[in-house]
Amino acid sequence: MEKQQTAVCQVCGTALAGRVDKRFCSDQCRAQRHNLKRKADVGESMILDINRILRKNRSILKVASPLGKTTTRKEYLVMQGFDFNHFTHQYKTQKGNTYSFCYDFGYLLLAEEKVLIVNWQSYMAPK
Ligand SMILES: [Zn+2]
Repeated sequence: MEKQQTAVCQVCGTALAGRVDKRFCSDQCRAQRHNLKRKADVGESMILDINRILRKNRSILKVASPLGKTTTRKEYLVMQGFDFNHFTHQYKTQKGNTYSFCYDFGYLLLAEEKVLIVNWQSYMAPK
């Protein structure tokens, strides 16, 4: 696995290909960023920042576990820039394990600094 961080759009969090100095995925996102800065709307820019973190988290989980369940080292996710403080929701199993999700990808912290990555399943939806 490569150790480089995933470069993402500063507005929407889409993974960026190509030039390392690129900061936005599209002219739309660039314009949106400029508009927000001008308005200095703290709440809106916070939403964007958190969305960006969540999207980045999701893409890191997706790359680490493209199919079904995968166990990896916590350190590996941290190296990719994963932020364990941000997730969209949680799911608690009958055994009492709490999975934290970033949209459709979730993780469970295991012993010995390991992480189990799972995909969202329909039975996890609130009843
Ligand atoms: Zn973008």
